[in-house]
Amino acid sequence: MKSESTENKVRGFLNKIKREDGKIKAFLHLNEKAVDEAKEMDRRAGGGKGKMGRLYGKVIGVKSNINVKGMICNCASKTLENYRSTFDACVIEKIKKEDGIIIGMTNMDEFASGSSGENSAFGATENPIAKGRITGGSSSGSAAAVAAGFCDMSLGSDTGGSIRNPASHCGIIGVKPTYGRVSRYGLIDLSMSLDQIGVFARNSDDAILLMDVIQGRDERDTISEDFGEIKIESVGKLNAGIIEVDGVDKKIIELFNKKVLEFREKLKWGFKEVEVKHIELAVQTYYPLVYVEFFSGTRRFDGRRYGKRIEESCGKEVLRRILGGSEITRAEFRGAYYKKALEVKDLIKKEFEEVLKKFDCLLMPTVPCLPWKIGEGKKMKIEEIYAADALTIPANLAGICAVSIPIGKIDGMPVGMQIICGKGGEGKMLSIAREIEGL
Ligand code: GLN
Repeated sequence: MKSESTENKVRGFLNKIKREDGKIKAFLHLNEKAVDEAKEMDRRAGGGKGKMGRLYGKVIGVKSNINVKGMICNCASKTLENYRSTFDACVIEKIKKEDGIIIGMTNMDEFASGSSGENSAFGATENPIAKGRITGGSSSGSAAAVAAGFCDMSLGSDTGGSIRNPASHCGIIGVKPTYGRVSRYGLIDLSMSLDQIGVFARNSDDAILLMDVIQGRDERDTISEDFGEIKIESVGKLNAGIIEVDGVDKKIIELFNKKVLEFREKLKWGFKEVEVKHIELAVQTYYPLVYVEFFSGTRRFDGRRYGKRIEESCGKEVLRRILGGSEITRAEFRGAYYKKALEVKDLIKKEFEEVLKKFDCLLMPTVPCLPWKIGEGKKMKIEEIYAADALTIPANLAGICAVSIPIGKIDGMPVGMQIICGKGGEGKMLSIAREIEGL
């Protein structure tokens, strides 16, 4: 029998949200039916007699680019300001089937374009741990909601780091699955060849549970694949590769190295530095792909079927991508940008495949810098902002899985480390995360 009813739990979360979220801005829209849904579930559970799904008792926040029937799915954009979803995304169907409760839709960078949360048309989300600072992005509200204790876990999307980056800044776990492991049906895409839906949680057990529920082949997303159940095993002695990286804040490197030393002593793993040469091209490779795919994807926001015409209603970063994407598309007959970028993407993918033959997992920091003060992003050069994803983009380009786990704080600001495994390697990756969590 459960110690606390789901109803009470949902009421507790909603009260906390009412008290604290005015400042944090993690949610854009709450599920008015959440309490009733919880009551109904408790009734069905009958104090332990009824057979309930795996997510019974779990309360989940959803990024505002994932369709949840009847809820506002506006991508934190004026373009889709009052748009209500008419259907459930595949991941939402799965969550509902397992009796999870959706508590609300979270804030984000507009159309998932950004890495700080400052590009939301409805105001930046504040970091609940490092006050006055960004949460990271683009899944800013989903990360903040979990870190602030507004729900148990949440869904985000990760195209170039949008789950791992805010997980790192908020001190929680953020999983970016292998490309294709989770159906993108019902996700409003940023860049369809890179997007993946993934999860945030405060502990690895919750992350593993939600990942296992949402994953799997779905015929409505043709690139989705079945990789089998996410099995957690004792990892034993393994070989970890430490990826050499440049341009990372010295304090972050120090903390990262200290952690690696601790693993070496306590876990007796083998560690070796490893070079992945082409990852320094990751950011330059990523943006042409995103611009072009985003430009093409946004042509449906022409103001005729739903919402407003995107060019007339979106913010600066989204407009930059649309105009940039249109330019590149026009110049593409020479194969100058998009095709080149695809070639480098392939190089990076192959390099990771080779390196991952020699190691069980790869480790590196998640974000090269600490979360800046809200508003500072507006003064930064676009190259500086884009550089915040330099360490997360490589896994998206390679199509492999990666998780950010918390490793401590610097001046009160959380810092994360990535564990990267090969295609379909979530079982091993999350087993490693769990083992580290237990140290
Ligand atoms: N910050 C990156 C971008 O702006 C990543 C976004 C994402 O992963 N959705 O494109």
